[in-house]
Amino acid sequence: MRALYPYKPVYNYPGSSQILAGELAQRMLSQVREIGIQIIEGEPVLDITRLEDGLFHLALEQRRLAARSVILACGMGLFEHRRLGVPGETQLADHMLFYTLSDLALWKDKEVAVIGGGNSAVDNALLLVEQGARVTVVHRLPEFQADAGSAARLRERCSRVLLGWNAVSFSSREPAAHEAVMVIEHSQTGERLSLFVHRILVNIGIRPNSELIEKIPLSRENRLVKVGTEMQTSIPGIFACGDVVSYPGKTRLIVTALGEAATAVNSVARHLRTEEEKMVLIFFPPRRLGAELVRSFTEAGYRTFLFVLPGEKAGHSTKNLLTVKVTMPLARFWNNLDPALKEMIGRSRAVVNFIGGDFSALKVSGQGEEWNIDGTASAQIRFSFLELVLGNFSPKGKALWFNLAIGRHKRNEAGGLFCNTKYGLTGLEKAFELTPKLHNFEVINICLTYFTSMHCEHCVTEELAASGQPLTGEADIPRFLLQRVEALGEKPRPNT
Ligand SMILES: Cc1cc2nc3c(=O)[nH]c(=O)nc-3n(C[C@H](O)[C@H](O)[C@H](O)COP(=O)(O)OP(=O)(O)OC[C@H]3O[C@@H](n4cnc5c(N)ncnc54)[C@H](O)[C@@H]3O)c2cc1C
Repeated sequence: MRALYPYKPVYNYPGSSQILAGELAQRMLSQVREIGIQIIEGEPVLDITRLEDGLFHLALEQRRLAARSVILACGMGLFEHRRLGVPGETQLADHMLFYTLSDLALWKDKEVAVIGGGNSAVDNALLLVEQGARVTVVHRLPEFQADAGSAARLRERCSRVLLGWNAVSFSSREPAAHEAVMVIEHSQTGERLSLFVHRILVNIGIRPNSELIEKIPLSRENRLVKVGTEMQTSIPGIFACGDVVSYPGKTRLIVTALGEAATAVNSVARHLRTEEEKMVLIFFPPRRLGAELVRSFTEAGYRTFLFVLPGEKAGHSTKNLLTVKVTMPLARFWNNLDPALKEMIGRSRAVVNFIGGDFSALKVSGQGEEWNIDGTASAQIRFSFLELVLGNFSPKGKALWFNLAIGRHKRNEAGGLFCNTKYGLTGLEKAFELTPKLHNFEVINICLTYFTSMHCEHCVTEELAASGQPLTGEADIPRFLLQRVEALGEKPRPNT
């Protein structure tokens, strides 16, 4: 609207009987800026691909962006104004010859030639006449292609309408370099005329460039993107609205595009919620049980993020699985994670956290209840990472946090059996207590040591004791966790 027809009055936009398209577009932009949405201008999106991290990666000229979902609202694509391709056109472009009306003041009271015979040329010529410009319209065909009403109005108001004439060359008029000489030729007789004008407007159509849409493997119809009633495309997570879409009965109007945009936005919200409900994070799994868990969640359709330390087996090349290697220095690693990925991590509803050997490096006293983490100690990388992740969680609906711990049993000073699993887990639960936004997490601690020969009464967590589940060995754990997560998915999620 701003680029193609900024001065065209729009009569069919509800709430105003008439508004200039450029002004309407400007108001929409201001509203978007007011609510803090970032707008990147002048950098077209060149390609959109979905990588294995589950995010859509958008390649712009200068940078890359990542997103969990995308709405295509790119109209008929980027476009170029058609050029005449005659001598002198390039030399005069942007100072005497233009393809669009950007600043009306530049045209006021000037001698102007408008080239073209479609709606844009005719509407713009009428507008320039209203501005007091002395307009000559030159069109190569014997008739206008514009609306009959607009063409008739133009004939009434514009004294010079030259039909059947072609522009053949442009030059600036010496020594009065602020004037252009435009040579035109009659298409049948070959007669030539020279027009002397201050400004030339070339409106002979646009050449749409739909390369972006062609690159994305979407179902299309006549080069347009096919969508369903929720504005969903054939690629889950990509939605579309406006002139770029195709469905039976589609109309190409501003109001239709806006209605479809509202539908698309709501569909994105629903899509993200469903995705979150079907997302599980698994931190630092031991090989055998980890593989079993990954298999059980991914086969049940959960998108699973597996965090492993370098050197640990990433393996499990399964659909629905993304393995992320957590490296030191942790702060840099975390800062370099894609913000969209962090956001996605922070909204997942189920987290399985394995607490392994570095657990004993924690400063848990005989009385336990402490959870002191040294973020620079590579031995505590698991815990440090966990802290970063905990801090990133957003307040949200109910979620589950499973701690699966492998701990050590030692005698404490009093001779009692000291189970650092129990104390470490208590410390971890404290972290949840202290972090208000994590109150929605239900924490389920399961001590894996319980399933080995050496177990103490602390290992038997209340959850295990009360669950009534036949948890007789590690092999039961994947099924148990999956059942708990599935049950969570059945509960309605509170609005957040
Ligand atoms: C001359 C003319 C007059 C019209 N008059 C009216 C009217 O009076 N009333 C009415 O209701 N409708 C009118 N329409 C139709 C109306 O303009 C469209 O239906 C409406 O603008 C569609 O909105 P959209 O957001 O889908 O596309 P557009 O408004 O075309 O917006 C698409 C945007 O996406 C951008 N884009 C495209 N590709 C990329 C890329 N790769 N990367 C980044 N950005 C990209 C474009 O630059 C553009 O800014 C008119 C259309 C034309 C051509």
